[in-house]
Amino acid sequence: MHKELAAHGYIGKHLNTLSDYLDRFLQFETSDAMNRESTWKKQLNVSVPERGVGIENVLSEIGNQIISNGSQIPKPGCTSYICTGATSVGVLASLSSSVASPQRIGLTAFNYLEEVSLNWMAQMFELPNDMKGLYSSGGSTANLVALGAARQKAFESIGLDPARDGVSKPCRIYASQYTHHTIQRSAAVLGMGRNCVKLIPVDCNGRLIPEELAKQIKKDAKDDCLPVAIVANAGSTSLGAIDPLQAIGKIAHKNNIWFHVDGAYGLPGVLDPAIKHLYTGLSLADSIIVDPHKWLGAPIGIGATYVREYALLQRAFTQEESNYLEGSLSKTTHTNSMDSLGIPYNDFGVELSAPPRGVVVWALIKEIGIAGMRARICRHNAMAKYIADKAKSHSNLELMLEPTLSICCFRYVTDELTDLNQLNRQIHRQLVRNGTNIPSTTMIDGKLVIRPCFIGARTGWAQATDLINEVLKIGRQMSNSNLQLSQSK
Ligand SMILES: *Cc1c(COP(=O)(O)O)cnc(C)c1O
Repeated sequence: MHKELAAHGYIGKHLNTLSDYLDRFLQFETSDAMNRESTWKKQLNVSVPERGVGIENVLSEIGNQIISNGSQIPKPGCTSYICTGATSVGVLASLSSSVASPQRIGLTAFNYLEEVSLNWMAQMFELPNDMKGLYSSGGSTANLVALGAARQKAFESIGLDPARDGVSKPCRIYASQYTHHTIQRSAAVLGMGRNCVKLIPVDCNGRLIPEELAKQIKKDAKDDCLPVAIVANAGSTSLGAIDPLQAIGKIAHKNNIWFHVDGAYGLPGVLDPAIKHLYTGLSLADSIIVDPHKWLGAPIGIGATYVREYALLQRAFTQEESNYLEGSLSKTTHTNSMDSLGIPYNDFGVELSAPPRGVVVWALIKEIGIAGMRARICRHNAMAKYIADKAKSHSNLELMLEPTLSICCFRYVTDELTDLNQLNRQIHRQLVRNGTNIPSTTMIDGKLVIRPCFIGARTGWAQATDLINEVLKIGRQMSNSNLQLSQSK
């Protein structure tokens, strides 16, 4: 008799142990993992074991060597990139699905919640009524799926099927200079090539200029190429700018080109009454994406694409028939959860096996409601405004751009030094080393600026005031020591 060696029950008992490690981690009292790099690398870099050590030992190693050497990203003051740690209910929902419904298929509550939660998000963000959604692993895949539908639509309009026959004509995708690079990558994966993406200039607020877009489309009409999509940002990654959606959407309609809105980060901003009007043009979109694993606080691995013509997704991404399922599904009567695949999401995107992500998004919204989401988004947007006000009023700070969403770009300035890029780079490095307030940087017109993006559920007002105070403090120290250095030369 061969006995199974892997533990596969008593989850609660082990969870108790794990939760102690996790809660300790969330106190953020351990120093950065790199301080102990050689220790944990040595501990973990061993050859593959012939005999296992058992779950208790694995759990202890997870707790002591791995969790304690985890990431800074879930910290309240970590405002780098557009990334955050999941909220508790997101973690719990994700764990539930990995135990009780490993796949999103079947006539189960999990499969059903994909549809329910996608509809909830559509209502919450006031998307056009006829849009239907699809989950995938994140904004990268969500953009790919949307542009796959756009490609299908464009080629079908000239009597071709790109999913079946490939891309037989040079294509064009229009996007702002600040478009996320997953747009170019999607174009490459979809066989249209990165170079098909034409970048349109932006105004001084980082917003695509509609007149420039119209001009480029007109110019390209003389070439033998197929316009596939116009991509607008509803929250650019670098600046948080929202492109003029209404004007761009009108150009798209007039020219009969697919209108895609990348709201991976910024779509939830529509909940903030102060900027809701910037989203008016959403009603013109053919596809929209959003990343629940950004502002909504889901664990990483959840993006959503919305389109009006759902059947296009199927023509673009169908998986065709599978012999191994012949006879195992019931076409007529459903008396068992295995009688059907449920909603066959695998036929509308690029994943077959996928975790049920709907339960996570459902739980996030159910826990705090639209009101709770709105409160978070308004708080973060107000924090960016607060940083902007401070930067405008303090003589050692400079605001680079009025914030639209929860990103604020500013820098430290002083008359005593000439290389402000170098100074701000040093300030940023010191912030990261100190490990409490961790923004990122970006470049605006050749100027290196400090860029916090507030999105984490743990991130509150204290983080905005702390960041300003710390930047001022480090800035003073750095400029003094730089000054002394230059005088001693
Ligand atoms: C984050 C982001 C993406 C990419 O999303 P991932 O979830 O990281 O794959 C795409 N577009 C925009 C505007 C983003 O902010």
